[in-house]
Amino acid sequence: MRRIVLVGYRGTGKTETGRELARHLNVPFLDTDHLAEEQAGRTIDEIFSTEGEARFREIEQAVIATLPARDAVIGTGGGAVTQPANMPHLRKDSTLILLTADPEVIAERIATAPRPPLTDLPAEEEIRKMLARRREQYAAALDFCIDTSNKTTKEAADLILRILKTGVPTPAARADGLTFFRGGRLSAPVLQRLEQILKNPPEDPKTRLVGVAGNPCLHSRGPNLFNALFKEHGLNYYYTFFEDPDIGRIMQQARALDLKGLSVTIPFKQSVIQHLDEIPDPAARQIGAVNTVVFACGKARGYNTDWLGVRAPLVGMKGAKAVLLGAGGVAAAAAYAMTGLEMDVTILNRTPEKAKELAKRSGCRWAAWNTFDALHPDLVVNTTPLGMEPDTRSPLATDQLYPELTVFDLVYTPPITPLIEQARAQGCTTITGTGMFAEQARAQFRLWFGIDLSASALRKYIP
Ligand code: NAP
Repeated sequence: MRRIVLVGYRGTGKTETGRELARHLNVPFLDTDHLAEEQAGRTIDEIFSTEGEARFREIEQAVIATLPARDAVIGTGGGAVTQPANMPHLRKDSTLILLTADPEVIAERIATAPRPPLTDLPAEEEIRKMLARRREQYAAALDFCIDTSNKTTKEAADLILRILKTGVPTPAARADGLTFFRGGRLSAPVLQRLEQILKNPPEDPKTRLVGVAGNPCLHSRGPNLFNALFKEHGLNYYYTFFEDPDIGRIMQQARALDLKGLSVTIPFKQSVIQHLDEIPDPAARQIGAVNTVVFACGKARGYNTDWLGVRAPLVGMKGAKAVLLGAGGVAAAAAYAMTGLEMDVTILNRTPEKAKELAKRSGCRWAAWNTFDALHPDLVVNTTPLGMEPDTRSPLATDQLYPELTVFDLVYTPPITPLIEQARAQGCTTITGTGMFAEQARAQFRLWFGIDLSASALRKYIP
């Protein structure tokens, strides 16, 4: 890793800590605000008051895009990480440290160094509001987090140097983590990589883990996809499998190993909620299921990106008459996406009480499984695991499918499921689970790393 990038709200100590760090590391200190002022030939205050914030962001973006790729400590402006275009440049081959401080401490620190106001609110209120507004962006822009409220510049710099040297997990947590992984069903190469990351002392203390939590989850395409993206974007991360019957145990390991994030899959999307500190995502709260956990500054926050993956291929079918097969965690996300597209949705499920309960919660209808033919929908969405490898069953018989029907199978292993094969044979329009997987993974990548990729940038890594 060549560069240490300090991010965070103004008044958290980026400039002083950055200078101190650079001195210790014997590398230059670059400050993006200072470089922007130099490039514009005016102070930030002047740019804000004459041309507005948008112009300042343009100048800042140009500065960040041309930062040198050599060893350096880089201090960034408080809003730099709110601009998605900046993130690939800031993240590439860099270690990002978020500096935080209590709002009252920030207010006191910046009282004597007035800067352009970002809102019309009094100082401390503005700080609280902006910190809440930028919560996701700061969480996505950190590899490590330091609270500077009660620290001198030297103490903050020393703590960063210690983290860079040893990482965050304790030797005991690394040993426990290894025991956890060795007790599972991981392949030899995966275990070997984890042994390199978790040995004591570690090979590179800055390497951090991300993973998929499920039971089972070894079928997940997540590791292939995310590890390829980490390589492409110069991110010092490794994505692996957290397979265990107990989500409590997985979350305990995740916290002890200082994970960046977890994808959550079968059967934990609901049960993970009791192990989280916050669910800031209104969609996850409404759906009642979490498929993405972001760990930041000691907090585990839950989000749902499944519904975005269901919604994306269906935006052209607004108002359709639809049948949803299944009433589990993903079905709740699908119902949320489909009702959001004003579809008339009927839920059919093996256990009818669950269909009834989800229908009530999500403003849909429900019916018995054997009423499918009478409903004659425009769209059927399968959220049951039927057809998922090694299962070769299909939730519907071939003669229940007709050419005007669009069939969306959320199962994506194999890419062409028995249901999709039958539907194609009957002349239906088909949507495979791979597209959904790519869309929901894209949203996860954005939540974890702040980088907004196109769906096709991800599709190239999904077989
Ligand atoms: P879940 O919460 O366990 O729910 C499974 C649902 O399927 C339940 O309604 C269950 O009915 C029903 N079901 C299970 N076995 C069945 C069977 N043999 N016959 C009929 N119905 C059956 O699981 P989930 O988290 O919603 O995930 C469901 C599927 O979505 C997974 O298999 C996965 O392949 C797919 N998925 C795809 C993506 C993607 O990106 N494409 C993402 C996530 C999940 P009961 O209520 O009767 O138990």
